[in-house]
Amino acid sequence: MMLGEPKPEVSVVTENYLQAIYKLGERDEAVSPTRLAEVMDVSVATAVGTVKRLTRQEMVAVASNKEVSLTRKGRDVAESVVRRHRLAERMLIEMLGLEWYKAHREAHRLEHAISPDVEQKLVEALGHPETNPYGLPIPGYSKGSKKMKPLADAREGESMTVSQVPEEDIQLLTYFDEINVKPGAEILVKESAPFKGTVTIDVNGEHVVLGLEVARKIQVAA
Ligand SMILES: [Zn+2]
Repeated sequence: MMLGEPKPEVSVVTENYLQAIYKLGERDEAVSPTRLAEVMDVSVATAVGTVKRLTRQEMVAVASNKEVSLTRKGRDVAESVVRRHRLAERMLIEMLGLEWYKAHREAHRLEHAISPDVEQKLVEALGHPETNPYGLPIPGYSKGSKKMKPLADAREGESMTVSQVPEEDIQLLTYFDEINVKPGAEILVKESAPFKGTVTIDVNGEHVVLGLEVARKIQVAA
């Protein structure tokens, strides 16, 4: 390269794989090349090839049962990109007014472009946030996670605060936005009817009937 930007030390592809491995680990999911291929939306052969390259770069280690884990070096890179992603999400919503449900998708473009200097400025401007807009901890700034349980496990009459919702499915996020189920929202369980497959909640003075499958995905403060 003659002009322009210095070459980044870690490629976007590498950052994306390490981020995916980190996020599966956050959910206590075992990471195999097959699972990685699914979440990265690539063929198994491509995922296997990338894992081999990451192993040579000492970013990941592969156990004899094919489980992929981050090395110390890989974890540092993963935490860095996850941190930039989650700060970018907050920036998009709080500073630019982007719709809450769009921030996760948009942050995937921005996360790779944030330098350590800009990251520091963002943290200060955002008031040292500990979580992203969906309740996921920001590595390096979160002071330990609070106790959570799925809404599906709550009892009738219980009132609690939403802690975390899944961020990947934009249609589900759009729905959560419509019914105001976001981290920090106060909800009251009016009826829990596993035999009907529903949980009825009050949120913002409105009755909302949720399917059990959706209620399992919403984490509330335990
Ligand atoms: Zn996100």
